[in-house]
Amino acid sequence: MNSKIRAIARRIKEYNDIVIARHVGPDPDAVASQIALRDAIRLRYPSKNVYAVGAPVNKFKYYGTLDKVNEDKLNNALLFVLDCPNISRIDSADVTKYKEVIKIDHHPFEDKMGTIEWIEENASSTCEMVTEFLISARYRANKEIAENLFLGVVADSDRFLFTSPGGKTLELMSILIKNSKINIRDVYPKLLLRPLNEVKFQSYITEHMKVTANGFGSLKIDNKTITKYKVDSGTASNLVNNFNNIEEIICWALVSYDEKNKVYKVNIRSRGPVINEVAAKYNGGGHAHASGARITKAADIEKLFKDLDATCKEYKKSLKESKKEQPTE
Ligand code: AMP
Repeated sequence: MNSKIRAIARRIKEYNDIVIARHVGPDPDAVASQIALRDAIRLRYPSKNVYAVGAPVNKFKYYGTLDKVNEDKLNNALLFVLDCPNISRIDSADVTKYKEVIKIDHHPFEDKMGTIEWIEENASSTCEMVTEFLISARYRANKEIAENLFLGVVADSDRFLFTSPGGKTLELMSILIKNSKINIRDVYPKLLLRPLNEVKFQSYITEHMKVTANGFGSLKIDNKTITKYKVDSGTASNLVNNFNNIEEIICWALVSYDEKNKVYKVNIRSRGPVINEVAAKYNGGGHAHASGARITKAADIEKLFKDLDATCKEYKKSLKESKKEQPTE
């Protein structure tokens, strides 16, 4: 058992009130990891008060329900922050109101918030880390917990395309499946089954995406189109991974407008250039090859597109140069 896992297991034992939070605008990994960890702690310690907090997301309700907590009424509570590197993006939890904070995350480090910061940038997902925790600390995962963890890993690794080095992701999933006896064929449809209108919307994106000579693909999606295809403003975020493995595109960005928060939401992906440093200049961040940004001024979208296109150009140039430098036999 690694020392972080041992320390986390010890802290869980000590606290009676435990709250588990994750980032705003959650994806399957964020929701599945917080609900799985909550349920596993409840299973092991039925008398503890364990809550998973954050705005509920209708399309992820198959992972389980979230809890409401009045933080002012908590006393000496422990807060877990999962899948979220920065304090400003924690959904529905105030780190200052807790006796102790523990972060479990696979994003590059941003803000120090915890007495324990367990960060594995190489892990496919936070669900993979929670799986490792449960297995190492000998927590039981029932069928629901195991299904949630498996789906979170499948979603964040793009169906095992981006796994930890050395086969660790697959090894952990193998143990999880064997121990809990889940049938993955039954589980996959929860994540993968899609309505026809969403698939048609994906075709719209493919049809209208602008692709530059440097391999940068982009599309601004207006709310009229969202209405026409009967999808919601978050759908582009769910589809962005589906534009991987297109020969002419090495980096791509989809922009949709969040009417409620009056902000443009940008989902950026790459299969080469590092994009999180560019995203960080536009109120964003994330992983080297999967990032997001929130933009308030429409003019900044064009600036971001230009920056990403320039990053693609640089990347292609460096590839060419490194090929030239390779000695010929
Ligand atoms: P998404 O495109 O929303 O799936 O996000 C991809 C990655 O970027 C995830 O790891 C997010 O946590 C991160 N991310 C998205 N938006 C932001 C933002 N505004 N600031 C920092 N990180 C972000």
